[in-house]
Amino acid sequence: MYDCYGDVDRVPELLARAEREDGAEAWDELGYRLVLECDLVFPASFAALPRLVRLASRSARARGLAGTIVRCAAGSHGCDDLLAGCAEAIAEFRELLDRHLRSRPDDYLATFRNSIAAEGQYHWSAVLGDFTDDFYQVACPHCAAEVTIAIGGYGRYSAIRDWNLGDADRRDLRPASPDGLSGIGRWMHQTAVRDGEVVLADGITHLFGQAECPRCASVFNIADEYASSHRPLM
Ligand SMILES: [Zn+2]
Repeated sequence: MYDCYGDVDRVPELLARAEREDGAEAWDELGYRLVLECDLVFPASFAALPRLVRLASRSARARGLAGTIVRCAAGSHGCDDLLAGCAEAIAEFRELLDRHLRSRPDDYLATFRNSIAAEGQYHWSAVLGDFTDDFYQVACPHCAAEVTIAIGGYGRYSAIRDWNLGDADRRDLRPASPDGLSGIGRWMHQTAVRDGEVVLADGITHLFGQAECPRCASVFNIADEYASSHRPLM
């Protein structure tokens, strides 16, 4: 179970140290040995995951590192067997994150994104913002025009982005009704509402709602188009 330096024995040693003293030094080294960048995790990362999840209820560093590894699980790491073996740990982690979300922590969005990844929705985990200043680029499914979707404090609209004019020809988005949401959109919305995250919940109804193409006036589902055009990259 090698880590990012090809070492096999250092991570278990560090985990034992982190368990004993929860020291910053051990956590720092675990961090860079287990995750190089978001698409680079190692066999040792998945091997360490169950232990990290056990530590996560009392250590924020363990919770953060376990979350990063879970978010990276969609990448091409060649560890699918190891990942499959982590199913129980990931289910346990999902429950732990949910308890943390209910406490309305300062790191709500980061925890929310880790939860989405633990639900297996890596795509939304990677792109979701806090809806203060969020833009999504989608291709209109009817005329293929590149449409800019804005969901933020300054407006919620579809537009054609122009180098000189900015976001031109804006059309208001049509948010989904919460009752009409399904799947991960429903889960995300219900969780945000439960925890009093008003801006996040409202942004989700827009992201999973509909937009009008400024060029051909056809109306399409934003999340469906966004997910289908970006999923192959994950
Ligand atoms: Zn169009």
